[in-house]
Amino acid sequence: MFRVNDNFCKLPSAYLFSQVAEKVRGYIEAHPGVEVIRMGIGDVTRPICDAAVQAMHEAVDDEADAARFHGYGPEQGYEFLRAAIAENDYRARGVEISESEIFIGDGAKSDTGKIGDILWPGSRVAVTDPVYPVYVDTNVMGGRGGDLCTDGYWSGIEYLRCDFDNGFVPSLPMGQPDVIYLCYPNNPTGTVLTRAQLAEWVDYARHNGSLILFDAAYEAYITQDDVPHSIYEIDGAREVAIEFRSFSKTAGFTGLRCGYTVVPKELKGHDGAGREVSLNALWNRRQSTKFNGASYIVQRGAAAIYTDAGKEQVRTTIDYYLRNAGLLYDGVRNAGLEAVGGKNSPYVWLRTPDGMTSWEFFDRLLDRCHVVGTPGIGFGPAGEGCFRLTGFNTYENTQKAIERLGKL
Ligand code: PLP
Repeated sequence: MFRVNDNFCKLPSAYLFSQVAEKVRGYIEAHPGVEVIRMGIGDVTRPICDAAVQAMHEAVDDEADAARFHGYGPEQGYEFLRAAIAENDYRARGVEISESEIFIGDGAKSDTGKIGDILWPGSRVAVTDPVYPVYVDTNVMGGRGGDLCTDGYWSGIEYLRCDFDNGFVPSLPMGQPDVIYLCYPNNPTGTVLTRAQLAEWVDYARHNGSLILFDAAYEAYITQDDVPHSIYEIDGAREVAIEFRSFSKTAGFTGLRCGYTVVPKELKGHDGAGREVSLNALWNRRQSTKFNGASYIVQRGAAAIYTDAGKEQVRTTIDYYLRNAGLLYDGVRNAGLEAVGGKNSPYVWLRTPDGMTSWEFFDRLLDRCHVVGTPGIGFGPAGEGCFRLTGFNTYENTQKAIERLGKL
């Protein structure tokens, strides 16, 4: 019999959101007629904006016309979208990123998960704790996780704890990692790093020869002036960082699938012989071989969010979610709970009351308030005793959830 990649077998089989869905299904079956408000999974609920919908209708018509038909596109993405990104997401903020440094993909989950392809399998990895689980699981799949310990940590990964005590600002690593994953605004905690705080990480990476993988999937939610939208706003970041962006939470593309990855030309690693290698060239090689480009129609839709109408419509939707998140934060605090987030992020992260575990709180919230959230433990051991709520619901449901929480 042939052998499989054993690393996959090391991963625990249960997936957090399936567990949540199963519990909710069981609860609804046992309590028919109860109105459950879902504030668990991080999926958007508002429709795609008109400008993007219009552009996609036109793109469908292109595909129906022999003269305008598009088959396989460039693996790196269409020039019209790369140029719109360079202009609006970077140049407009004073950051120079060239089109050839931007790679359009089918979302930040795919790209943060696949980036390990171009890294040495023996690289030492550091992540924050709690963390978006994709970073950990994909490194385990790639053989960089070591073994799962009884305390829930992987022996091969350095965890940088973020909690209420350190204000959710992780300490710099002790173990000289080769690769550091940072996600800001953060999922799950909804917290951010200021420009000065992020600059410390860039300095660290420059002095230690580390690579920062910066996930900015929630960039569009930033409201504070001293919070950078891109890691490239920090001097020297072009030499040490790859940035991931997503149209999912910005423009409701969770179902359409589109995002992009920036790999600056200055970013260099080395091979086994100590020769300098361009990561931009490696990622380009990887994408050209394993990826055939995001759909033309979806890229047309994504480009439309950079038009004047698109920008305004997207802003309206993000403001809607931010209003919900703000309401949630205030409601949770008024209910006497400690919480962060909700200001530059759709997420609110709270400390469970009375020392409850995060699953105990999940059960209590579902049972007494009929509100579904996400147990913090699902994002790493430091998430125990914490809980995530999201602003991705209607305003009316958010109000209702807060009223119910007040009675808890
Ligand atoms: N990165 C983070 C931190 C996320 O929370 C998510 C989705 O929840 C993603 C990436 C996935 O984004 P995409 O839909 O572009 O794959």
